[in-house]
Amino acid sequence: MKKILLIIPFLLLIGFVIFKVFKKDYVSAEQLKVVTSYLASDELEGRETGSVGIEKAAGYIEAVFKKNNIKPYFETYRNHFKWGVVDGYNIVGYIEGNDPELKNEVVIIGAHYDHIGMAKKVGDDDIANGANDNASGTSAVLLMAQYFAAKKSNKRSIMVVLFSGEEEGLVGSNHLAKTLKEKNINLYTMLNFEMIGVPFKDRDYTAFITGYELSNMSDKINEYSGYKLTGMSKISKERELFKRSDNYFFYEAFKVPCQTISCSDLSNYDYYHHVDDEVDKLDFNHMADFVNKMIPAIKTICNTPTKEIKLNNE
Ligand SMILES: [Zn+2]
Repeated sequence: MKKILLIIPFLLLIGFVIFKVFKKDYVSAEQLKVVTSYLASDELEGRETGSVGIEKAAGYIEAVFKKNNIKPYFETYRNHFKWGVVDGYNIVGYIEGNDPELKNEVVIIGAHYDHIGMAKKVGDDDIANGANDNASGTSAVLLMAQYFAAKKSNKRSIMVVLFSGEEEGLVGSNHLAKTLKEKNINLYTMLNFEMIGVPFKDRDYTAFITGYELSNMSDKINEYSGYKLTGMSKISKERELFKRSDNYFFYEAFKVPCQTISCSDLSNYDYYHHVDDEVDKLDFNHMADFVNKMIPAIKTICNTPTKEIKLNNE
């Protein structure tokens, strides 16, 4: 064999090592699967606000915060609200920024952890597990928070919010947005994650941003991540999904870019609010790929010297 041929496997090995070093995997598909599988298990009975099942979900989220040294933003992790006679609670953690000035500016990453409880029976199944909606977004936010809490590389502070009462009409986020507005916090932007568990097959981006035209958030996320990670969904625009998730009341209260990032605009998932919205329908490699590209974008959002994400009318 010619000597020159011997060099080929060597070059391949070097290439592989370089690829491994530069391709960052912050979270794994397996980690996302473990968290999502618990939240979407039958034991939690569809996580309806006010139920025993959602109490278990809340306890689980609090334990994740505690284990990762994520501090409560209020006296406890729970931010209580009333929905009629029902007691609801958002779970709110805080990862303080490391810059003396910028730490006063807050970036919220959020997802609703509640779901609808029981739904129309199919066979003998009547539990709406809400794996995609929104155990997937909750898992993504928990694992991103775990990363940022460990690295402590964020200059701005990160508020980590898992909302309840979303399915009852954004009750929890409406309450928290008003509370934070009264406290006059310096909110830079909010990224809310909804239904990220299945990939699109017909798009040139991974996720859409609700209220796409409202701000330059999508362009900035793509610039910061180095991928075409986000884009515009016509269906989202037609159905006004911008007003249908927990970002909306934050936008209303603060008039800053508060938007939802999602991989399902109801065109690519048949099990919305259906008892078959279960973990076996989700693609955890897709979820990991999405989260691993989103983390560097959030990191940059937390660390730019000025607030670069802006409403388009500013
Ligand atoms: Zn949802």
